[in-house]
Amino acid sequence: MIVMKFGGTSVESAQAMERVTGIVKSRLDRKPVVVVSAMGKTTNRLLKIANLAVGGQRDEALRELLALRDFHLRESGMERTVDEHFQELSELVKGLAVLGELTPRSVDAISSFGERLSSLIVTNYFQHHGLSAVHLDARKVIVTDRRHTQAAPLLEESYKKLAAAIPPLLESHVVVMGGFIAATEDGITTTLGRGGSDFTASIVGAGIGAEEIQIWTDVDGMLTADPTIIPNAHRVKVISFTEAAELAYFGAKVLHPSTVHPAIERNIPVLILNSRRPQVDGTRILSKTVASKNVVKSIACKVNVTVLNIHSTRMFMAHGFMRRIFEVFDRYETSVDMIATSEVSVSLTVDQPERLGAILRDLREFSEVSVDENQAIICIVGENIRYTPGVAASMFKALGKINVRMVSQGASALNLGFVVAGQDLAAAVAALHAEFFSELDPAVFDA
Ligand code: ASP
Repeated sequence: MIVMKFGGTSVESAQAMERVTGIVKSRLDRKPVVVVSAMGKTTNRLLKIANLAVGGQRDEALRELLALRDFHLRESGMERTVDEHFQELSELVKGLAVLGELTPRSVDAISSFGERLSSLIVTNYFQHHGLSAVHLDARKVIVTDRRHTQAAPLLEESYKKLAAAIPPLLESHVVVMGGFIAATEDGITTTLGRGGSDFTASIVGAGIGAEEIQIWTDVDGMLTADPTIIPNAHRVKVISFTEAAELAYFGAKVLHPSTVHPAIERNIPVLILNSRRPQVDGTRILSKTVASKNVVKSIACKVNVTVLNIHSTRMFMAHGFMRRIFEVFDRYETSVDMIATSEVSVSLTVDQPERLGAILRDLREFSEVSVDENQAIICIVGENIRYTPGVAASMFKALGKINVRMVSQGASALNLGFVVAGQDLAAAVAALHAEFFSELDPAVFDA
């Protein structure tokens, strides 16, 4: 048994579904469960419609709804199913327009329609193209708490239901489910948070004890560096979960690490694959350490970062400085990415500028703060870093005359991160890539 998850772009049109059908057909002997996202940008469009409706723009909301209906009809040809769902949706939207208030529960009711429809449409497409496919409503097998829009799965309960429902169906069918959607114990529709279909795939895989979970996207997998900076970056064939997680925190948008946790916990490998280039082997994420002759597995970066240098001589030899600083960030619900400290000063980075004005005002009540905008974080990631002497030396040597503003190495020593000015980013990444990837371990990288 394997789980194959296809994201929004992989099922955005009839043509895309044809590709998916081919990919699934070539893996029938492995008994696939297919998990799909909503088609294209449907979730965004549904949320926009909900907001228009409660914001007093009922007619505009209904117009958008009609356009979304036409899109689904055009790509699927399933008149009855599409009409039934959009009938229900339009009642909901009208109700919201009357109420003028959007609760998390109604957000879920509306946004669930993307996956409810896409899963039926993909099942139907499969059936018409020679696959014996059966639809399974994810809301019947994935149970969550009541935290609408961000619901947490009740894993043991869900695993029981998944293990009972899916394996018998797989004997003679391809099972198709919508990602992202689930239900509370009493059957109220919930969702697992944006991008939640990867999470669904991982929960399903863990529940049925799948041998592998395949996340089909539109990139070849994880790379040694951002390909917009390093056009000849190499594909990483295999990487550990902790490394992949570290990369994801620092900019690699391929996959959110927490979403594959249930799979990793049960030692199920997760593969990242490209549905436009299915012949490429992708990246395999394993729960265990991956030995490699290269110390560094990948270079991640994040642009448009702001660095705050917080300084207070009053805090010399006193306690509570950190607490006061982080209380401010807590108050404005802003997360901090990197931090470096000395006795009387703290440098930290933020990438959400929205509430910076208020944060600065509060920080300045007890310290002096200087601000550097347009900075970039660069991280070299690899589990071997902690066992290899001289990595920092090679890194700084490669950077040559590029000015490093801040450095941080976590206690896990899985990554070594630093900050440079935005305009130095490309040169810095290029220098590091040349330093750490001029020779490649063929077991780990695609040369
Ligand atoms: N359709 C949902 C979203 O756009 C879930 C997913 O695609 O993973 O967030």
